[in-house]
Amino acid sequence: MRIKTFSLNSDHQVIVKIVKELFSLFHIEVGEDFEEADFGRWDIRNEQLAGNPVRVVTRLILDGRETLERRAEGKEDERESAAVHRIIKLNLYWILRERFGFPAAPWGILHGVRPTKIVHRWIREGLPEKDILSRLEADYACSREKAELIVPLAFRQLPFLKTSDERTVSIYIGIPFCLTRCLYCSFPSNILPEETKLREFMGVLAKDLAAAKDAVLRYGFRIQNIYIGGGTPTSLPDNFFAEMVDMVYNAFYGEDIVEFTIEAGRPDSITGAKISCMTEHHVTRVSVNPQTMQERTLRRIGRRHTPEDIVAMFYALRSAGIPHINMDLILGLPGETAEDVEDTMRKVVALGPDDITLHALALKRGSNLKLMLDENEHVELPDDEETRRMSKTAMRYIHDAGMHPYYLYRQGYMSGQLENLGCCREGAEGMYNIQIMEEHQTILGIGGAATTKVVDFKEHRMKSSFHAKDLATYLRDIDIYIEKRNRLLEEVYGGQEELASC
Ligand code: SF4
Repeated sequence: MRIKTFSLNSDHQVIVKIVKELFSLFHIEVGEDFEEADFGRWDIRNEQLAGNPVRVVTRLILDGRETLERRAEGKEDERESAAVHRIIKLNLYWILRERFGFPAAPWGILHGVRPTKIVHRWIREGLPEKDILSRLEADYACSREKAELIVPLAFRQLPFLKTSDERTVSIYIGIPFCLTRCLYCSFPSNILPEETKLREFMGVLAKDLAAAKDAVLRYGFRIQNIYIGGGTPTSLPDNFFAEMVDMVYNAFYGEDIVEFTIEAGRPDSITGAKISCMTEHHVTRVSVNPQTMQERTLRRIGRRHTPEDIVAMFYALRSAGIPHINMDLILGLPGETAEDVEDTMRKVVALGPDDITLHALALKRGSNLKLMLDENEHVELPDDEETRRMSKTAMRYIHDAGMHPYYLYRQGYMSGQLENLGCCREGAEGMYNIQIMEEHQTILGIGGAATTKVVDFKEHRMKSSFHAKDLATYLRDIDIYIEKRNRLLEEVYGGQEELASC
């Protein structure tokens, strides 16, 4: 649907964002330049009525002729501003659906990255499971299917979340290099540079690691998980890889470590020497990311390995005794159908991985894929319906393999309005995945494009400090980024020395 322009009786950023999210959800395009449009002008008027509980009326006026109206009220346990924003979104969602017959969105108006957060809040407040399910449907127009996905998943996370406290942290190390750039990638990864640049990176990384280690000692942190990601850490040449793993191990490995993960990404980046290095350093989890087992798709998305390479890499890791192997797949890749996903799932499940993460393709700014679409190049992308068929097929294999979903997050512009879903066999839950996705634990970010996330338990919010996304800036300004991380840690943990002994 196309409209030429719209107006809002508020320029509050959150309200503008809400409206834009709904337009995007229902594929409503806005443009003064459209030669043909379904409507010339929409006026959206929201009014908060006096009294308690919060009540909001939303009106949508179409071309000044037709007025549609909906009203709703907030809940006792909602903050006033949160209730107002939710109701505006819910009102407009229903007005648009009822007037134009748009199909139900699987997640309703739950647009955030972490839909489980609201579920965890209700769990903490003591709401029983059936009430949480009902509120997701009533308050957020979430489908029963998605509600029944995240509510049991959130309950399943509870014992893992309980293993952490204010002084328990995880360490993330970003190695921002890859062998080639995938079509859909929007990460700030760099094609592996020559040796001099790598040497410079290692020097800066050593400084970054040392500063983070000082912080760990200063605040008495207990390290629960180490995660080396990127990029593709295994794209480093063998000698650099061994040196990097050794530095990380010496800085942070200790008896409290529950999980030590390395992303191995692609089979063309792995060697026997790297596998030996990982086992020698007690790596517990390796992520192998085939994305698909369809050879023509691998070529299409810019990977230069075959499905057979993935199988060989999997068995090499298994026979080396890596305890947990995770495999990432993407639903909605160019040119794929649900039948391709079925074939991929059959091949992946046959290997017996401990964990399978199902991603839905997200069209992100900065990716070559988005660029091609923006420039009207032909890319054969499966539509939402087909991607949902893919998801159903994949989930059938997950259940048949005895796996269950254990963490979930969403991104903007996801194919099929789906989600990224981590599934594993019993006992193979990735602790780091749960802690980071639920923003329940402080994560110290080290390396290229890394983010430090500090949980402020007093203010109940997450505060972040970002290393430069661009490699040259990271290398040049490392002292500035270390200082920013230190300041953030001091802001939250400074003056709480008494907790260090807890
Ligand atoms: S392997 Fe990952 S980080 Fe590297 S280019 Fe592909 S998607 Fe991007």
